[in-house]
Amino acid sequence: MYRNAKNVGYYMIGKGSLVQLGDLLSVRRKTVQGPCVFFLDHAFKDGKLASKLPVEDNDIILYVDTTEEPTTESVDMYTARVKEFLNGALPCAMLAFGGGSTLDTCKCVGNLLTNPGQAQDYQGWELVQNPAPYKIAVPTLSGTGSETSRTGIVCNEAKNIKLGMNSDFTMFDQVLLDPDLTASVPRDQYFYTGIDTYMHCFESITGSYRNVVVDALAEKSIELCREVFLSSDMMSDENREKLMIASFMGGMAAGFVGVVHPLSAGLSMVLHMHHGVANCHALSVLEDIYPEQHKEFMRMMERQGITLRRGICKGLNDAQFDALYDASIVHEKPLSNRLGPDYKKILTRENVRQRFERM
Ligand code: ZN
Repeated sequence: MYRNAKNVGYYMIGKGSLVQLGDLLSVRRKTVQGPCVFFLDHAFKDGKLASKLPVEDNDIILYVDTTEEPTTESVDMYTARVKEFLNGALPCAMLAFGGGSTLDTCKCVGNLLTNPGQAQDYQGWELVQNPAPYKIAVPTLSGTGSETSRTGIVCNEAKNIKLGMNSDFTMFDQVLLDPDLTASVPRDQYFYTGIDTYMHCFESITGSYRNVVVDALAEKSIELCREVFLSSDMMSDENREKLMIASFMGGMAAGFVGVVHPLSAGLSMVLHMHHGVANCHALSVLEDIYPEQHKEFMRMMERQGITLRRGICKGLNDAQFDALYDASIVHEKPLSNRLGPDYKKILTRENVRQRFERM
């Protein structure tokens, strides 16, 4: 069976392009009734970003707490707030300003405005039945590729699983990429999040589920990541723009990941670790499965003066190691993408525990 692949409808790229957001939105406001819902990362609570946005009196701004990654509870909570505000109507547009957590929250809330039930009902593939409201992504952090991907990742604590709402309806309709917005990101966070796109792409092209378009996007994205992370200043104006484009392409290329993301999901579930840094810890102990990429990643970290805290799983008890294993090994598609159907013979409970102990 061939898949009918969807891409983001429109995108605008360029330094300072945020000033054109009002034009994009006014076209929409002329044809569709209803207020706009703005999701902003809580890092922007000082109001400086909001003052530059085309917010009108009837609109609402919601600050998304990204201390923890989105959970089924947090998504349900933001959905309830938006529904209360809309009072039965649908929004003219939903807009998200932030990194993957804020963008994914917006995507998932969008799905729940037009589909009954709760966040947990839609974790999986092709479960969303009705189209979501029109959505615009404005990333302020590059790397997760949420701006172009067809998933909104949510942690489900009750089921101990990190799983996305994978659907064409989850995708944004418009993306605006303005590299000025990533100028003030802390260096560590910039690296940990940015390198996520490198990981999506190498996991994709070293897997067995492939296609030529995805390979082309992934290869170009990897090339840009090398230029950025092996340069002397990963945060120069030019490099911030390159990383935004790498993330944009990486989001489209991230059909199937490999072994990094499952181990990373384990860390997010059990240790509440953020996705980017969790990926870095995961790759740091996968030198046998991704030898070349492991070496190159280490060089990138050294070049940018980034270090990983050691001993993150020190002192965990057996039940916690079991939870780490369970939340990792459950990701059958990505694991078999790299290791084949017998992945459990390589990644035994003991083998995986030893990797976590080495982090
Ligand atoms: Zn990722």
